[in-house]
Amino acid sequence: MRSRYSAFATGNITYLIASLHPDNRQADDEIILRQTIEDTQWLGLKIIRHKPVGNNATVEFVAFYQDQSIGQLHERSNFIKKDNQWFYVDGEILDPIKLSRNQTCFCGSGKKIKKCHNS
Ligand SMILES: [Zn+2]
Repeated sequence: MRSRYSAFATGNITYLIASLHPDNRQADDEIILRQTIEDTQWLGLKIIRHKPVGNNATVEFVAFYQDQSIGQLHERSNFIKKDNQWFYVDGEILDPIKLSRNQTCFCGSGKKIKKCHNS
């Protein structure tokens, strides 16, 4: 999950497609990914739960991004391991998590959220 997040943040489309489960790849993956990457400024990633069971794993995470205000992608993703490599299968979008403006920012700045971004 972390490596997929980094790939989103740095625009590594090749990796994003390579780490998609082959059964779930679509012809327009590359166009959609390119659009998402161009339109989004990612701020930070918070892994909430990571549960590997054998060759399956569920990862719940929140990826924060800058829009007019701070946006969240809160998702529970399913991964499967094949030939020693983890593949993203699918995910379920969840409601945004509650953030306190006094907590340390998710972006790693060390500042409180209210002092870090215009949210
Ligand atoms: Zn911040």
